[in-house]
Amino acid sequence: MALLKSWVASANEAQAEFPLNNLPYGVFSRGGGRRCGVAIGDMIVDVTRAEEAGLLAPAAQPVFAGGAWNGFMALGPGAWMSFRARLQQALALGADERAAWEPLLVAQRDVALHLPFNITEFTDFYAGRHHAQNMGEILRRSRTLPANWLHMPAGYNGRASSVVVSGTPIRRPLGQVKQAGAPRFTPSEKLDFELELGAIVGTPSQLGHPVSVAQADAMIFGFVLLNDWSARDMQAWEYQPLGPFQGKAFATSISPWIIPKAALEGFRVAPPSREAPLLPYLHEAKPGLFDIDLEVWIQPRGAAEPTTLCRTNATRLYYSAAQQLAHHSISGCPMRVGDLLGSGTISGPEHDEFGSLMELSRGGEKPITLPNGESRGFIEDGDSITLAGHAQGDGFRIGFGQCSGTILPAMDTPGWAR
Ligand code: CA
Repeated sequence: MALLKSWVASANEAQAEFPLNNLPYGVFSRGGGRRCGVAIGDMIVDVTRAEEAGLLAPAAQPVFAGGAWNGFMALGPGAWMSFRARLQQALALGADERAAWEPLLVAQRDVALHLPFNITEFTDFYAGRHHAQNMGEILRRSRTLPANWLHMPAGYNGRASSVVVSGTPIRRPLGQVKQAGAPRFTPSEKLDFELELGAIVGTPSQLGHPVSVAQADAMIFGFVLLNDWSARDMQAWEYQPLGPFQGKAFATSISPWIIPKAALEGFRVAPPSREAPLLPYLHEAKPGLFDIDLEVWIQPRGAAEPTTLCRTNATRLYYSAAQQLAHHSISGCPMRVGDLLGSGTISGPEHDEFGSLMELSRGGEKPITLPNGESRGFIEDGDSITLAGHAQGDGFRIGFGQCSGTILPAMDTPGWAR
């Protein structure tokens, strides 16, 4: 596929994140209420207004009035495809309808972006093999994977309530950490990021009814960048016997634009070869990973510019989002419109491909030196962490935008430590 040209000139630039080939879904405001929008170049098409103006194929009831994409998602893949085709037609270079659509454009620099959908549930997986082996080495001095790892996508049920949009400040969490004798109450001293993709479930499944990998793939609406903020010291003390809890529950950041799965179809890649054969319910008929370049930057407060911490690719994952979703449903657990699935930390085999500071600094033992002379084993107050990504096509890219968060000092809680 080549660049699809638009009458929105900024969408046709080679480095443009949001060409006509992309058309990601977001929610914005400009003083007033929240509205649904689709990014094109450096502009946003106000689709809430397009619906009000009768420019879209009418649904049974308005789906864009609520300032979230859930209502539209629930219409299903047929509606997603026809909506996307409608916008690609209206925004194409030379389109007759330009005069009707141009008044709906809003400059991205003039708006605030919000969570693009109501997050009904959040599950986080552990599908990066290099990450799982690195964590085993750091935490247990063994690169041997857990016995189940090559057979199922491991995951845990997270908190939808603490998923925030890029730009939301992140408060350093308080909690228990291990210490000789008895645990200690403290602000986390090992605050970390995790580079992940988030898959968004657009259509539901029913209680007691597992879905196949092919059905799961059809249920996925799109993808975002996801930073699963982690307090490693709290995680290390609490994770046995039931897995992560407060060390992960305090915040998860996502990027503001949902990249349509349709925009990524041309970037599908087969997963790595299977060391252990998968059970038939996890077989996938079409390649389920996507070739997406990913990177992470850190910028301490006052630093002139960010420093790259890692660069890797989403093909480093071992399980696809469709396999994770199928596995999630296999017991009969129903999936809801607006379910968010974190991929698990994406790390490659080399040091500069590690998708967390835990791995980059080897648990804090080998801190990273930044250009301003400071060093980092973990994240300090005032640091900003930014995830970015794009799929590179022939003369165009499918950009994900950015997912950023700045760390605020922990709440002051005098007396709680005793
Ligand atoms: Ca994670």
